[in-house]
Amino acid sequence: MSAGEVERCDVAIVGSGFAGSLLARLLAVQGHQVVLVERGSHPRFAIGESTTPLANLSLERIGIRYGLADCYRLATHGRWMEHYPHLRRGLKRGFTYYRHHPGERFADRGNASERLLVAASPEDALADTHWLRADVDHHFVREAVAEGVDYRDRTELTGIALGTGSARLTGSRGGEPFVLDAGFVVDASGPGGFLARELAIPSALERTETRSAIVYSHFTGVRPMREMVPALSDGPYPDDWAAVHHLIDEGWMYSLRFDDGVTSAGFLLTPRGLDASGGAAGGAGRIWRSLLERYPTLGDAFAQATPLFPIAFRERVQHRLAYATGDRWALLPHSFAFTDPLYSTGIAWSLRAVERLALIFGDVADDDRAPRGPALARYGAALEAEADQIDLLVAGAYEAMAHFELFAAHAMLYFAAVSFAEVSQRLGGDEGAPWGGFLGVGDPVVEPLFREALSRLRRITRGHGATGTASERRDFVSWVARSIAPRNVAGLADPSRHNLYPVDLGVLLERHALLGLTREQVVEALPALRGMSPEPPLGRAATAGRRG
Ligand SMILES: Cc1cc2nc3c(=O)[nH]c(=O)nc-3n(C[C@H](O)[C@H](O)[C@H](O)COP(=O)(O)OP(=O)(O)OC[C@H]3O[C@@H](n4cnc5c(N)ncnc54)[C@H](O)[C@@H]3O)c2cc1C
Repeated sequence: MSAGEVERCDVAIVGSGFAGSLLARLLAVQGHQVVLVERGSHPRFAIGESTTPLANLSLERIGIRYGLADCYRLATHGRWMEHYPHLRRGLKRGFTYYRHHPGERFADRGNASERLLVAASPEDALADTHWLRADVDHHFVREAVAEGVDYRDRTELTGIALGTGSARLTGSRGGEPFVLDAGFVVDASGPGGFLARELAIPSALERTETRSAIVYSHFTGVRPMREMVPALSDGPYPDDWAAVHHLIDEGWMYSLRFDDGVTSAGFLLTPRGLDASGGAAGGAGRIWRSLLERYPTLGDAFAQATPLFPIAFRERVQHRLAYATGDRWALLPHSFAFTDPLYSTGIAWSLRAVERLALIFGDVADDDRAPRGPALARYGAALEAEADQIDLLVAGAYEAMAHFELFAAHAMLYFAAVSFAEVSQRLGGDEGAPWGGFLGVGDPVVEPLFREALSRLRRITRGHGATGTASERRDFVSWVARSIAPRNVAGLADPSRHNLYPVDLGVLLERHALLGLTREQVVEALPALRGMSPEPPLGRAATAGRRG
């Protein structure tokens, strides 16, 4: 094009992480002309790697609705290995937690060990995955391009002007300036926050509770916990093939093992925990070393580990904006808010939002091409409520870290909310699922629990990490069990399990009434509930009628 010429497109998406690329592709499938703008280039390193059943259900629905076989097949470890073995990933069978104490090795005390395992899948083939983001995001970009998305990497956007008929983006690529008029702009730039900056969207961070810093990298040579504590009793799955969480006085560490032996690991530190580790001025390497020295089992696990990238440090991982939509624009979740990696909410929430925006665009009248009004307002309101809910959940979990009994009980709130949602979505088909509230938002039983839990926990910990009395902890444990009972289809908060929870379809059958179903109806739905339905037809012709 010649200098000064104005280009046009229906939708411009800023940022080509998996969320931006996937949305770009879904809109292209629907016939929209999409430009996807990326400041950097692929493949590129990113964290935010661990998926969950709700994330993978979104991916399956997207695959089925828009006829995208790769999305469906990347939703379980078994299908992924069969079809995309070149994309690096890790097997994730569930959520593993250990509590470590300063100067002490992790103690195997049999059933009384400070260890919690919650299975997310009944077997490896149906399991979730950790995404090696460099590979996965690159895959989604390539697929977007194959679908006709106009992808522009190494592109610097310099401004946006919102007009009545379009949003005008200005920028440059390879030193060449350009002007692009888009009917709508989606900000998928993550914490990079393109629209936050350009439109001066106010921060709403002060209304959030969670604060944490991070030190992290990818490593080779990390030894699994099973080698560190070989006598641990068998759990519902091998402990290390999971999102492994090591709770410590200063916060917690995540450790995600990829199938090729690389481990993604990072410490999330509370403000007090950061101070105790030498403070921000100490630098990433020093904080990292001081924590490994303090916790001998972790120190041993990482003794031979080599970082693949310099260990990085960020003093605050949280961000939160005041609103997520406006006239001719919308933010994806990671541009709008981020709380903390605890409970791996990011990918699932992002995919849910991608589904919602794709549905909204699917409903746009042909003569307009840009969503507006109530549909966008609904999207924005959902994100705001869900960001609050994630924050309350995670803030409660940090408070509960004062004592493992509190933490394990509090975790049941999360697992009850997501297992009930997962079963409901598997039974209910894909109709209402994308708009279902994330983490119990809109569910009169679940929604209030995270806030209530946080205030109960703060009374116990006095807001500064006190462990509370045995009777205060017992009361909290029984409050959790009572509160989740109407949604507890997974047999959670059951002392006879000793914190080792398999996927138990027997419990689900027994509790059929909680789902409003007869036992026979649940029996009939078992293949879907186990994620074992045969692969549906995924060609474009087969799915054309399903697109909303
Ligand atoms: C420490 C940490 C750990 C996490 N762990 C998990 C986890 O285990 N599980 C989970 O589900 N979630 C996790 N998350 C959240 C997860 O990272 C996000 O949900 C996910 O990355 C969102 O993907 P995205 O595609 O929306 O954005 P991003 O991955 O943030 O991608 C944004 C893209 O936009 C580009 N960009 C930025 N600015 C501009 C600009 N001005 N112009 C053009 N392009 C731009 C960037 O280069 C990048 O490619 C974690 C997050 C953090 C911070």
